[in-house]
Amino acid sequence: WRQRADADLYAAKRRRRGLLPASLDTPEAEELLRAITDGELVLRYQPVVDLGTGALTGVEALVRWQHPERGLLPPSTFLPLAEATGVVDLLGARVLRAACHEVREWQRRTGTTAGVAVNVSGAELASPAYPGRVLRALADSGLSASDLVLEVTETAFAEAPTMTASLAALRAAGVRVAVDDFGTGWSTLSRLDQLPVDVLKLDKSFVDRVVPGEGCTPVVDAVLAMARALDLEVTAEGVETAEQVCALRDAGCDAAQGYHLQRPVPLEDVELSARLRTAA
Ligand code: C2E
Ligand code: CA
Ligand code: CA
Ligand code: CA
Repeated sequence: WRQRADADLYAAKRRRRGLLPASLDTPEAEELLRAITDGELVLRYQPVVDLGTGALTGVEALVRWQHPERGLLPPSTFLPLAEATGVVDLLGARVLRAACHEVREWQRRTGTTAGVAVNVSGAELASPAYPGRVLRALADSGLSASDLVLEVTETAFAEAPTMTASLAALRAAGVRVAVDDFGTGWSTLSRLDQLPVDVLKLDKSFVDRVVPGEGCTPVVDAVLAMARALDLEVTAEGVETAEQVCALRDAGCDAAQGYHLQRPVPLEDVELSARLRTAA
């Protein structure tokens, strides 16, 4: 992560100065930029489990700031600032490279075939350099394109329709694309059949409404039916109970992740045999 740190730092500073209102050129923004280039960002990984077989199919990379005084900080404490200042572009580039390298090394070490999902901000995708950056990260790490999922929020899809060209190009190279937080915006629904996507990540707010003894709600059943019709896979996020695992599996949901299966952990702590945890 430290490689090219100085060059990155100065380039990002210059870019930020040129683009930003002075009100955002704050000590906090400066500290975050330094943290990114000094390698204080670390990744945690949360397993994604196939509900049919109970096998680990992949992990989602989730960024944290290992702050020297304040400890391990969740993204909610620094992503909004990163987005507002444009630093999120540099942050995303670092996360992408680190995730590809760490997961490829983990595959070599453990023999697992699990891939990795990386969250992508709308700002990163808007850059014409984005597809090249992804392909370079794959080539440099040795990770196969089919082992990478790019998670793009519904909101980002709605705000930047031109980025679908970038995603289509990456899909042609074998990378997979997921709609993150699916169902929170509904803005993508009318053109879901035209978007370059492979996976829907069913937002936690839907999973929360799957309660013991009642199975899935009609809305979840409808999303699953629609996904089948469009040949999309569905991963449910934020699964916290065994009942939710069973109801989603019985309704035909492909995969799940959530605290019931495993919390986000350092890569070496990911359980390679997630099977047992899926049983009610
Ligand atoms: P997300 O992509 O929807 O990720 C899922 C979030 O839900 C994660 O929070 C995860 O720790 C949490 N989660 C997983 N299972 C459960 C559960 O069973 N119950 C509950 N209550 N929570 C669960 P986290 O790690 O704090 O990340 C928050 C958001 O920050 C992510 O939401 C994503 O939008 C964003 N994010 C994280 N890493 C990155 C990154 O590298 N780049 C970008 N652009 N955004 C990121
Ligand atoms: Ca995500
Ligand atoms: Ca979410
Ligand atoms: Ca499947």
